[in-house]
Amino acid sequence: MVLEEAARHASGLGPTFRGRVIAPDADDYDRARRVHNAAVDRHPALIVRPTDADDVALVVSYSQERGLPLVIRAGGHSMGGHSTGDGALILDLSAMRDVEIDASERTAWADAGVLAGEYTNATHALGLVTPFGDTGSVGVAGITLGGGVGWLVRKHGMTIDSLLAVEIVTADGRRRIASAVEEPDLFWAVRGAGANFGVVTRLQFRLHPLGNVLAGDILLPASRDVLRSLVPVLLAAPDELTAMPTIMLAPEDPAIPEELRGRPVVHVSVAWSGPPDAGERELASLRALGAPISDTVTWKPYPDLFSPVDRDAEPVWSISSRGLFLDSLDDAMIDVIARRLTEPGAPEAIVQLRVLGGEMSRVPGDDTAFGWRDRPVLLWLITPDKDLGRAAANEAWTAAFRAELSSDGTATYVNFMGAEDTDAVRGAYPAPAYARLSELKRRYDPGNVFRANHNIPPAVTTSGRSAAH
Ligand SMILES: Cc1cc2nc3c(=O)[nH]c(=O)nc-3n(C[C@H](O)[C@H](O)[C@H](O)COP(=O)(O)OP(=O)(O)OC[C@H]3O[C@@H](n4cnc5c(N)ncnc54)[C@H](O)[C@@H]3O)c2cc1C
Repeated sequence: MVLEEAARHASGLGPTFRGRVIAPDADDYDRARRVHNAAVDRHPALIVRPTDADDVALVVSYSQERGLPLVIRAGGHSMGGHSTGDGALILDLSAMRDVEIDASERTAWADAGVLAGEYTNATHALGLVTPFGDTGSVGVAGITLGGGVGWLVRKHGMTIDSLLAVEIVTADGRRRIASAVEEPDLFWAVRGAGANFGVVTRLQFRLHPLGNVLAGDILLPASRDVLRSLVPVLLAAPDELTAMPTIMLAPEDPAIPEELRGRPVVHVSVAWSGPPDAGERELASLRALGAPISDTVTWKPYPDLFSPVDRDAEPVWSISSRGLFLDSLDDAMIDVIARRLTEPGAPEAIVQLRVLGGEMSRVPGDDTAFGWRDRPVLLWLITPDKDLGRAAANEAWTAAFRAELSSDGTATYVNFMGAEDTDAVRGAYPAPAYARLSELKRRYDPGNVFRANHNIPPAVTTSGRSAAH
């Protein structure tokens, strides 16, 4: 405690800052500096944990006065390592964890440090949910500000389609509300490019009634016929069915026939959020695609789709990640995937397909900064590895794999991007949206204070000089 007081004093944040200050000599500095991607091993100058938006505003001003690079962290799951940095000031929101639910209005305000699983447990206790992704430990703020594609994407759209407002501290230290009526330009920008525009301190969401879902994994052989049929069958299904087929090599598991182990299989993870009979019918057409090797689909409460959240879990996996929007999964891609996964020396990568359409695709493309609404498939290429020494080689391999798949397109999803350069960020937005974002960036953050992210530099000023650092 004495050390902490000393750190607070030495930091110069001032007596009005009510949060924690963790300096490099604090006992828990080593734990506090770690993020989900274990390969990202950085040493910040200072980690601060604000308690509210006033604390956040102090930190935003302080970072600029001291010339310290500012890094925002919510759930810490950025795969590109954007929520930490050597010599940086980390604004760690994890102490801001309240969820305020208005069940009669079907809305909720979440503090920006809440994790998706925590939020879902709180609202589902009242029979209500907001759609996030497939993982409970991801931060509500991080996933929402990039878009949010999860188990209910076909029924209720992306997370941003249930976002009603945000409270945000901008680079000038002002606390603002952005919604459809207040600062609508800013509200448009935060729905897909939010990390670039300020520190979001609270988010207001719409809630949807939901009880149990019919969900689990159907394991099919990854034959060409199965892979060719999967996307059309899933796109033709009712909005209540969302599926995430994952192509990977079958593990050395006695439950899997010996001849399939080490060969490509496809785990079709499904969630049906409609009436029971219709769900069984829809899944029958999926099961008919190939002889299922195993099948764990059963009715369960919606929060059971997420593993329990453990905030103290030690990060162990290095992660290389790339995303890519597709119009279809064609034969040429199927060949590339089969070859890459089985080539000698290949890391144990997985190729996940998010089959989209439904409510997500009915929102007009220019309603939000995220604009790839017409793309029916999102491919997520992930290379996890516990051997951190292989992280650099895995990164190069994953990037080359993605380049081979994307010969005719670069449209990507910002939340699935890895350690990619700012040029690749252009692919996360249709060109008109990117141009509007860089103009808005000039308006709200001309000095590019918020640049520890998939960065959109401010538009060049009329005098011809860039306002960016
Ligand atoms: C295991 C795993 C599963 C995933 N599953 C899905 C999925 O199913 N669907 C999906 O859409 N995505 C998914 N993602 C991607 C995830 O949505 C992004 O990595 C997201 O950015 C993580 O948010 P976070 O708050 O945990 O991360 P952080 O690392 O804390 O933040 C990510 C980025 O957002 C910025 N940021 C965070 N909080 C704020 C804030 N309050 N204000 C302004 N900027 C902020 C950070 O500076 C950083 O640039 C997954 C990622 C992982 C690692």
